[in-house]
Amino acid sequence: MSRVYNFSAGPAVLPEEVLKEAAAEMLDYKGTGMSVMEMSHRSKAYQAIIDEAEADLRDLLNIPDNYKVLFLQGGASQQFAMIPMNLMKNGVADYIVTGQWAKKAYQEACMYGKANKIASSEDKTFSYIPDCSDLPISEDADYVYICENNTIYGTKFKTLPNTKGKILVSDVSSCFLSEPMDVTKYGMIYGGVQKNIGPAGVVIAIIREDLITEDTLPGTPTMLKYKIHADNGSMYNTPPAYGIYICGKVFKWIKKMGGLTAMKEHNEKKAKILYDFLDQSKLFKGTVRAEDRSLMNVPFVTGSDELDAKFVKEAKEAGFENLKGHRSVGGMRASIYNAMPIEGVEALVAFMKKFEEENA
Ligand SMILES: *Cc1c(COP(=O)(O)O)cnc(C)c1O
Repeated sequence: MSRVYNFSAGPAVLPEEVLKEAAAEMLDYKGTGMSVMEMSHRSKAYQAIIDEAEADLRDLLNIPDNYKVLFLQGGASQQFAMIPMNLMKNGVADYIVTGQWAKKAYQEACMYGKANKIASSEDKTFSYIPDCSDLPISEDADYVYICENNTIYGTKFKTLPNTKGKILVSDVSSCFLSEPMDVTKYGMIYGGVQKNIGPAGVVIAIIREDLITEDTLPGTPTMLKYKIHADNGSMYNTPPAYGIYICGKVFKWIKKMGGLTAMKEHNEKKAKILYDFLDQSKLFKGTVRAEDRSLMNVPFVTGSDELDAKFVKEAKEAGFENLKGHRSVGGMRASIYNAMPIEGVEALVAFMKKFEEENA
């Protein structure tokens, strides 16, 4: 068996320990004689899995009792519609557009009400986070929306926007559980789990209870109402059962690693190795304004499309997978999520040094 260093932006690397555990339980989960994949979601064994997953997530993020945790499906992209359908009580929302995902969310919201783009960093290819300390927040906005870590461009909000009392809704898909966060600062936090937590197919939403009401936009399908999922413990219909089970294992792994404070230290250490190298390199350059750099997604370029392609090809041959930048921006991107070991980043930097010498 040989595993590569996988720098994919998502689906992405998972802790090896978790994969081994899942493999060991594949044929017989804890004496049930079946795989979690084959199990009724109404069984006692499965109820214990989802309850424990929720409890561990609550522990990790210190989620207050007045927030619901929902395990949903449809990818993060489905939330682009569910959020306005459920939360646009006045039909108005403000969007801060810092990348493709925020832009898609904004465009989707435009179909359901008055969505205002109150700030954007598109003028410089989303390479920075705009100043959000005093934005023209709409008087009647139901929420202010951000994408907290921009997976494609490699930027991250280091301070949350001043929402002037409006609730904040945040897409944390690519920074979920990478560091501690204060849940009370948000009305809703959500993310697709395939970046940092588990297999594609699960979306986790953490929503303040008072925002979950029957009052949804007319025509909202039953499956797209937060209330139906909240009232049914995320089991109104069959949940993505196996995916939730893996998420639960990753929560336990993070706890064992020391929780989110330890995770943050580990991630900062890894990111520093890569950014320090980029800052002194004569060949490779980071593309993001320094103060807005993400700990999770690190885009960089050589300045030459041919050299970029050569680098991606040779890196792959050397066991560094998925370093090609997003199709919309080109260049390279190393995603260094929680489960990427420090050795993976050190090995990548050593390889980049060698490539730089060979191509000087
Ligand atoms: C990947 C990603 C999405 C889209 O996720 P899907 O689950 O494929 O819909 C949305 N937002 C962010 C920040 C992402 O990284």
